[in-house]
Amino acid sequence: MIDVPALFGSLVFNDNVMQAQLPRETYLALKKTMVQGTHLELDVANIVATAMKNWAVENGATHFTHWFQPMTGITAEKHDSFIAPSGDCKIIMAFSGKELVRGEPDASSFPNGGLRTTFEARGYTVWDITSYAFIKDDTLCIPTAFCSYSGEALDMKTPLLRSMQALDKQALRILRLFGNQTTPRVMTTVGPEQEYFLIDKQLFLQRPDLIYTGRTLFGAKPPKGQELDDHYFGSIKPRVSAFMKDLEIELWKLGVFAKTKHNEVAPAQHELAPVFTTTNIATDHNQLTMALMKSIADKHGLACLLHEKPFAAINGSGKHINWSMATAEGTNLLEPGETPCENAQFLCFLVAIIKAVDSYQDLLRVSVASAGNDHRLGANEAPPAIASVFLGDELSEILDALEKDQTYHSTKKPLMEIGVTVLPHFPKDTTDRNRTSPFAFTGNRFEFRMAGSSGSIAWPNTVLNTIVADALNSFADTLENASDFHQTLVQLIKETWHQHKRIVFNRNNYADEWVLEAGQRGLTHLPTTADALPALISPGNIALFVKHHVLTANELRSRYDVMLEGYCKTLHIEALTMIDMIRKEVIPAAISYQKDLFDLMSIKKTCGNYGTELEEQLAGQAASLSSCLLSEITKLESLLAPVSHLPASESIARFYQAEIGNCMNSVRTATDKLETIVASKYWPVPNYAALLYSIR
Ligand code: ADP
Ligand code: MG
Repeated sequence: MIDVPALFGSLVFNDNVMQAQLPRETYLALKKTMVQGTHLELDVANIVATAMKNWAVENGATHFTHWFQPMTGITAEKHDSFIAPSGDCKIIMAFSGKELVRGEPDASSFPNGGLRTTFEARGYTVWDITSYAFIKDDTLCIPTAFCSYSGEALDMKTPLLRSMQALDKQALRILRLFGNQTTPRVMTTVGPEQEYFLIDKQLFLQRPDLIYTGRTLFGAKPPKGQELDDHYFGSIKPRVSAFMKDLEIELWKLGVFAKTKHNEVAPAQHELAPVFTTTNIATDHNQLTMALMKSIADKHGLACLLHEKPFAAINGSGKHINWSMATAEGTNLLEPGETPCENAQFLCFLVAIIKAVDSYQDLLRVSVASAGNDHRLGANEAPPAIASVFLGDELSEILDALEKDQTYHSTKKPLMEIGVTVLPHFPKDTTDRNRTSPFAFTGNRFEFRMAGSSGSIAWPNTVLNTIVADALNSFADTLENASDFHQTLVQLIKETWHQHKRIVFNRNNYADEWVLEAGQRGLTHLPTTADALPALISPGNIALFVKHHVLTANELRSRYDVMLEGYCKTLHIEALTMIDMIRKEVIPAAISYQKDLFDLMSIKKTCGNYGTELEEQLAGQAASLSSCLLSEITKLESLLAPVSHLPASESIARFYQAEIGNCMNSVRTATDKLETIVASKYWPVPNYAALLYSIR
């Protein structure tokens, strides 16, 4: 039997371990740095480093690494062993405060969007004291931020931490106005639900498209997809269950609050949800979860696909980011509350978020933009690429009534007035809970559903924190100068609702009518990454990030460059993979099939009076589709040739999205048709049925 409480966090240098391993005054000094962000003295760092190393070595570690999150969206690590020569041909295991606090990986090859050139390549990693060190693969991993020599952020974590500070600052201003003089901090909390696919590893290895691009570039629809809804929450197959159990154990050891697991809608699709925690830690944990999903799948002879759309015609994978704000004491600021004062405070935060989403729709869209996610958003399985907010009918009616100075009558509580009466109890998680909304209020938090499954949650959270900080900032400016707080607050809530309620949409976001209606409401629709990326560097959005000290104009520009380049490169690799597979595998397979048909025809002819209409018909179909394929990939090659050496730009991104994307769609259509004609034994790669249904 597994002793889960004993196992949980056993590979983490967490608060309990620190208390046990560190002298009292060192522990208190470290805690102070963690909570108040004060400078960590080197003598304290030295003591912490030694204690950390001793603990790590006791737990089997031989190496340490500064674990960081470059702009690739995944994590990076460079391992150093603890060994140090002791002078007598022997070694000791050593680790200094300096090594703990700061590292200098020669990480010049990470994308930096022009912030560093290789000749001044040194980037620094700096210990992120707010996230605990842990042991993975016999290596002590120290979570770090990664920045350039001149202090510019080169990673996903630095802006995330800055955005949390920005939100903390503005939310505290609001809380103070509501009379809370004591809470030291407001944190954002996040619970990311992670979707993924599991397929057989041997089959995975036979598909170059899965290996190089993470998705199938072609594949005819199998007779059965997800029509019967029989996979969602269905019983978990033994092989998958064994994987999930192993994954949970390894996650628990690392202190990840893995809580919920189930089968998802598409065949071979699953989900893992942790219990929420502060955003910074939730981000680290989500990165660990994705990495462990891959490595543990491998041990089970499986391949874990984190791509947003590994298979056409069935659902892709997303990552629902459940998001809220809480005081240091753990009070959730999006909990409607029981008293008149809490009611006013709740509505104040709620409308600030509505204002934020409406004012920065384009930024929220960019925060989830990637080549992979473009296949998902708006494909009737995920919200369209239009930001909107779901509040539910009751909360919307309450705000409407307030706006019109009307009394709101609910079934349970007859009236409400901001800050005078308590909010009527509106039921949480009711049947009208809208699963199609990109940004849904779910009773005491928002669920941001546009994020893709493969990316880091750092960036969408950075954007979310910053836009909400901005709305709270403008509220605080107004309220701090008010002569009559109560009256100004009421006016502010009413006005904000009036100005921004167009962003609230409580109906079906998947319906085609919504795209039309959203247009009539003046909402922003940015269908693809190529459409969305320019928003990142619009003057207003640059000003936002600069104002709240989340990103400088340069840092933002570099992120834009990195995303643009990533997008173009992804499409380029996909196109090359497609050409390669079609030329070297698909067309030769169709030719082999035709050859056998022709051989049969000539045998039949030499044997005399046998008809060959069937063979002729099949060979004819295969021949015409193959030659159509050949001309499509020749076209694809000629489209790629002029852009392959050009640096990424907005117009090149659009070219990839439109011209190259369309051509790839035509190649896919012809290939999928051919797959239904050519006999299975000739088809060079495992088909959808094998990929999706072979795990027992
Ligand atoms: P569902 O699939 O119904 O949306 P799940 O149980 O799969 O629900 O996931 C809900 C997620 O929301 C969990 O990760 C949970 O910890 C998280 N969550 C709950 N409360 C909060 C909160 N206050 N802040 C952030 N996340 C939260
Ligand atoms: Mg959910």
